Amino acid sequence: MTLPESSGDHTLVSVRACADSTGFGFPTHEASTVPIVTILLAAAFGASLGSFLNVVLWRVPRGESLVSPPSHCPACDTDLGPAELVPIASWLALRGRCRHCGVHISARYPLVEAGCALAFGLIAWFVVG
Ligand SMILES: [Zn+2]
Repeated sequence: MTLPESSGDHTLVSVRACADSTGFGFPTHEASTVPIVTILLAAAFGASLGSFLNVVLWRVPRGESLVSPPSHCPACDTDLGPAELVPIASWLALRGRCRHCGVHISARYPLVEAGCALAFGLIAWFVVG
């Protein structure tokens, strides 16, 4: 059994076209949104994990419980509402300040969350790619 002579050329052309579409050899998923959704979900999970990591980094050195009390402003002790617990977005919306007392909130929080979101997004990209 022999393959048509042109099959090798077609394969070469499609591989070259795929590599050229990013210029960096990253996997591409044209005409498919499933991997993008997977990557975004992984990034959202990473951001949530980063948010929890922030809690661990703050409370463990102080000998505090990880589950109680609920997340609160360290300056005025006001409990944070659901909208203030959204990773990255809440910090940006509040411009890095407590909604209640206006105290400055470190940029370390959204940066840790963004770093975890990026790491998980990249891992998902290469796993589903
Ligand atoms: Zn406050």
